[in-house]
Formats: sequence, C-alpha cells, structure tokens
Amino acid sequence: MRPIRIGIIGYGKIAEDQHVPSIRNNGRFELAATVSRQGKGAPGIRSFASHHEMLDQMEDLEAVAICTPPSVRYDIARDCIEAGLHILLEKPPGVTLAEVEHLACLAAGREISLFTTWHAQHNPAVTAAAERLAGQSIASMEIVWHEDVRKWHPGQQWIWEPGGFGVFDPGINALSIAARIFPGELFVREAELIFPENKQAPIAARLRFASSSSGGELSADFNWNHQGKEEWNFHIRLSDGTELKLIEGGSRLFVGDELQASGGHGEYPSIYAEFVDLIDERRSHVDIRPLRLVADAYLSGRRSTAPPFEDG
Ligand code: NAP
Repeated sequence: MRPIRIGIIGYGKIAEDQHVPSIRNNGRFELAATVSRQGKGAPGIRSFASHHEMLDQMEDLEAVAICTPPSVRYDIARDCIEAGLHILLEKPPGVTLAEVEHLACLAAGREISLFTTWHAQHNPAVTAAAERLAGQSIASMEIVWHEDVRKWHPGQQWIWEPGGFGVFDPGINALSIAARIFPGELFVREAELIFPENKQAPIAARLRFASSSSGGELSADFNWNHQGKEEWNFHIRLSDGTELKLIEGGSRLFVGDELQASGGHGEYPSIYAEFVDLIDERRSHVDIRPLRLVADAYLSGRRSTAPPFEDG
C-alpha cells in the first residue's frame, strides 16, 4: 500500500520532538514536506516558507499535521481542507469554539478526516481510569497541574499573547484527561485567572467544577511558575471510599496503593495510529470539550493581577 504523504506545518518544538519521529516510525506515512517561515525543517525533506507554497507545489500531498501556535490554525486548516487534505490539529485545535466547529462543518462536507488531537488522552492509564470510573459516583476530584513555563516553552512569546492560552496551554492537557475520564458532564462553576501585569495571558488559574453526576468538591489548580519537578496529577475519591491517583501527566494509574496501568507505546505514536484509522475510514474525530472548559473559565472567571513575569 502506498504510504500517506504528509506535511508538517509549523516546525517548532513539538514538530521536531514528537511529530517527525512518530511519522518516521509509522510505515503508513511518508514525511513529504515541512513549512517554516524561518526555513527550519527536517534534513532531506522539502521545506516551504508558507503553506500556500506547499499546497501549490506538492500536488500529491494527502495529509497535514498543523503544529503552529493555535492563533493561526484556523486559516491554515481551512485552506488545507479546501485542498482536500486530511488534517491533524495539535492541541488546542483553535482559539475559539466557533473556529473549530466551522472546520468540522467544512470537513464533514468533504471526504476528508479532521482530527483534533489531545496527546494526554493517549496514555493507556487514562483509558484505564475512564474504564474504572465509568458508572461510578465521584465524591471528589482534585487536579494539580504545576510546571515551569521556562522549562517547557523556552523563548516562546506567543504563549503570552491573546489567543496564546497562557497557563491553559498545559492546563488544557489536564482538562482533556478530565473530559475523557470523568463519568458525566463537567461544568465550570467558578474560576480565578491570575495575569502577570505585563502579560495578556494568565500564569495561574484555579477552577471549581460542577457536575450533574457528582455533588462533591471538583477542582483544578494550574500554575506555570512552579519551581522543581512538575506535578501533573489527578486525585479522585469515589463515594465508596476508593482512591484513584492518575499521576505524571496521565501516565500511571494507582487504585489504592496498587499500580493498575502505565507505559504504552507513547502518546504521539498512538495519535498517528489513530490518524491512519480515521483516514482509512474517512472519519473525523473532533472533540471540543477541553477547549469549551477553557472558554467557560474565561467567560465566568474573576481576574486578578500578579507581579510582572520575566522569562528571559
Ligand atoms: P513553537 O516551538 O513556538 O513552534 C511553533 C512553530 O510554528 C514555530 O517554530 C513557527 O515556526 C511556526 N509558526 C509560528 N507562527 C506561525 C504562522 N503565523 N504561520 C506559520 N507558522 C507559524 O511551539 P511548540 O511548543 O512546538 O507548540 C506548538 C503547538 O504544539 C502548541 O499549540 C502547543 O500547545 C502544542 N504542544 C507543545 C508541546 C511542547 O512541549 N512544547 C507539547 C504538546 C503540544 P516559524 O517561525 O519557522 O514559522
């Protein structure tokens, strides 16, 4: 079978760290092109300065992975859908819900696959947690997502601009896990967003949720100014007293003291395996729930101000 010729648009940290190796290790794909305004790219692969140039010159391209900052995704994705390409969107899939919903409508009108990826959902421990929690009554859920922005986003300025998401860039990973594992709908009940005086995006956020399936305390605490080892943890208590801990970004699940699930083939290899299935079956997978929780936190949240933040 001929491999699916794929291009990567937006050649930065995640493209280089995860997308290139995952494409190269998946025999169903062939990396055919990259797009970078600065001329960066993978050795031996054609590189273009814009997605327009790539679409004009690469007639046999079948799919793209869009790994730019979210603020420019919609225009690029729309052009690629109109060119008939299958689309993989890095998280978050856009800046607004309307953008992503419109892309889903455009894709539905054509024989192409649109895949809004949430990499943290691709851990076997997350799947195991969803299975263990299905139909259960939740007494409480505490999400702690603390990391150091200087470590994970060195030199990136777009993350602090409007549409850059600030602390919700990592926080949305936690919300993507919550959306996947929580047995019932989650609503934002209260939010506090903390903006450094000199930034357009929050550096910390505290959320409280409500759910039709739990009257307990459901909370999330996101902090991007955390020193030391990251804390990416869920602590869930069931009404029967059982304790679940989903730790290290969703990679290990403990029920009580027993390790129930861990490991796997890696988040991004799993994403590309699912992309193959979607393309083969001409299906889309569009999940906007994590983005909706962020939007609702902005809509309902109180804003407070922190001292200026310098990351240089
Ligand atoms: P990044 O290192 O800043 O890379 C993004 C790249 O997009 C830049 O190198 C830039 O390359 C290109 N770009 C920027 N503006 C563009 C525009 N207007 N048109 C076309 N290309 C543009 O960012 P990243 O860390 O890879 O993050 C990208 C996305 O991946 C984000 O949504 C993030 O949430 C997600 N992600 C990141 C990580 C991580 O660990 N960093 C992990 C998982 C997911 P040129 O300037 O050369 O065009």
